[in-house]
Amino acid sequence: MNYQVTEEGFYGDFGGSFIPEMLHSNIDKLQRQYIEIMSDASFQKEFRSLLKDYVGRPSPLYFASKLSKELNTNVYLKREDLNHTGAHKINNTIGQILLAKRLGKTRIIAETGAGQHGVATATVCALMGLECVVYMGKIDIARQAPNVARMRMLGARVEPAFSGSQTLKDATNEAIRDWINNPVNTHYIIGSVVGPHPYPDMVARFQSIISEEMKWQLKEHTGKENPDYVVACVGGGSNAAGAFYHFLEDEDVKLVLVEAAGMGIDSGESAATSVLGSKGIIHGSRTLLMQTEDGQIVEPYSISAGLDYPGIGPLHAHLINSKRAMVFSATDTQAIDAAFHLTREEGIIPALETAHAFAILDQVGAKPEETMIVCLSGRGDKDLSTYISYLDGKEVKRH
Ligand SMILES: *Cc1c(COP(=O)(O)O)cnc(C)c1O
Repeated sequence: MNYQVTEEGFYGDFGGSFIPEMLHSNIDKLQRQYIEIMSDASFQKEFRSLLKDYVGRPSPLYFASKLSKELNTNVYLKREDLNHTGAHKINNTIGQILLAKRLGKTRIIAETGAGQHGVATATVCALMGLECVVYMGKIDIARQAPNVARMRMLGARVEPAFSGSQTLKDATNEAIRDWINNPVNTHYIIGSVVGPHPYPDMVARFQSIISEEMKWQLKEHTGKENPDYVVACVGGGSNAAGAFYHFLEDEDVKLVLVEAAGMGIDSGESAATSVLGSKGIIHGSRTLLMQTEDGQIVEPYSISAGLDYPGIGPLHAHLINSKRAMVFSATDTQAIDAAFHLTREEGIIPALETAHAFAILDQVGAKPEETMIVCLSGRGDKDLSTYISYLDGKEVKRH
């Protein structure tokens, strides 16, 4: 099986580039140039040096002995939570800002949900001295105040999206509208493996540093570079794509995706796209998408804003469809329980998104002699108010 993107931007039936006429020249240029720019020696040198000295890579691969004992298998944690700005998102924004500079762009736009991608984008814009506008749903602006403050302090303008449910999907629509109006000087930094070709492949390549490091780090720990399982939570799918990338063709490595079931898959308030989704087009690519029979997007729900998206990247749609990846889901409550458990057992407070991955580890069926790597995509600082409400026994549902 081949899991790499085709020339036209497809993974099996999924992907492609379904965009308005006005974006053709920008997208064409990206499609023609991204591989060449990214493989240039001076680009790689600058990218690798910023990942090392600015982001703090390589991120550690940590053997979680207490979790391992409890689950009766060998559990390693890939510590993306220790990156500068607190999650994996910075790997991609560093890569894309270097690309934007080589394309001669002077203005950056981005969309954000919980604000992690917005903060990572505002950070690299401050670093490189480029103008930055971040689109964010009006509701997300209200409930993610600390990240909004960070973006503003970093010099970004945060533009509210007033349409639809005023969350991530609507912020993405606004960012696309801006790009249509400013095609010459502006680059759009998409925050996950979604959007028209080449974004899913480009973002996966920038995030693939995660599995590149896993291979040599696991070899240092165990003498073998391949684990039996790699587990990651999935919103759009960028941390999962990065954690899977160098194992895609190694069929002995089982790939495990964990999506957000919200209040429960059948509750009507969920973001479990692989179960509830069908083939459709969203934000420029054909993928699995939560929609009604006549193609209206169904509003997703998860307590974690980073997983609250009605679609999934086309690579993951293909991995799921071809059964290369297994999919599990965790509800809001299971995720919060798992976050507290990880905190008490290993002294690590994970992001709410990441906590979903930890909630299903006992369902994977790993044997005592087997090895599992969990992608610890981000830290929980941004989610403290949700965790504290839970401790206080308050209603924690996000809306
Ligand atoms: C944004 C985010 C996610 C979800 O995005 P993916 O593209 O699916 O990785 C997961 N974990 C954390 C910590 C995030 O900030």
